[in-house]
Amino acid sequence: MAAILQRRLVWSTPLRTRFRGLDSRDGLLLRGDAGWGELSPFWEYDDAESSSWWRAAREAADLDFPPAVRDRVEVNVTVPAVEPALARDIVLRSGGCRTAKVKVAQRAHDGVVEPVDAEIARLEAVRAAFDEVGVPGAAIRVDANGAWSVDEAVRRLPLLDRAARGLEYVEQPCASVEELAEVRRRVDVPVAADESIRRAEDPLRVVRQDAADVVVLKVQPLGGVRACLELAEQVGLPVVVSSALESSVGLAAGVALAAALPDLPYACGLATSQLLHRDVTDDPLLPVDGALPVRRVAPDAPSLAAVAADPDLEQRWLARCDRLATRGEAA
Ligand SMILES: [Mg+2]
Repeated sequence: MAAILQRRLVWSTPLRTRFRGLDSRDGLLLRGDAGWGELSPFWEYDDAESSSWWRAAREAADLDFPPAVRDRVEVNVTVPAVEPALARDIVLRSGGCRTAKVKVAQRAHDGVVEPVDAEIARLEAVRAAFDEVGVPGAAIRVDANGAWSVDEAVRRLPLLDRAARGLEYVEQPCASVEELAEVRRRVDVPVAADESIRRAEDPLRVVRQDAADVVVLKVQPLGGVRACLELAEQVGLPVVVSSALESSVGLAAGVALAAALPDLPYACGLATSQLLHRDVTDDPLLPVDGALPVRRVAPDAPSLAAVAADPDLEQRWLARCDRLATRGEAA
């Protein structure tokens, strides 16, 4: 149990299916007076961009989460850009989720966006899987991660809307706020802003430009649960809380945000422990009857042994954490 007493732990695990161009995920867990926090900015993010992730990790470790107004948070199953048969399996194994988020507009290694027929087949498979488990009213949303042009979005969305028998919304169809606003004017499917919020200098531009019907908030990129609650109030649009593909320690902060929001009309994207081969606890935040319980998570020694990072990766994380801590103190 010696490892569990350390205040910083590094984890690494393969993903079950390739996601966001990644085959594995890793991060650092930090213990403070209130519990465990997670620091897991993606490696392509520099220290400036990672500083908000650092603030979120410290907040979770040092402070209790804000008061919850609900004790369970409905979540979506996430379907990566996979073949229809696997998409079906993912929905069937989702733990009773009644909402699916399906990845579209994925680029292959050669940079080519996948053809619309592949997206249509994936959406039809997801809808058929919900029918199969007796959830005909299930909601299906798509996430393009900003990869379409406006014209591509306008051309594809009616086809995908039909294939899904109704899309709940499209998340980040194009890269810029101006493009989101144009898609929103030209297509009936509601638009959700994700990257335009969390990687933007000014997240409120989305609101001023009438560019979205829904905003996606992620705790680490936006600097913590409290920072997200303030932003949600300023934005004044429905909020969906999503993960950054964290371990259950990081997911717990997302659940805490979702639990503290005054209104939560949509299922949240926090069921992503399902995408990890192994989590940092043997009691991970997995959906039961389509929802996650609101609770803190601590890592356990056997799970940590199974997700132990190699020494080189561990040293890289500890050095990164030291740099971000120094930066945080200077700020
Ligand atoms: Mg997204």
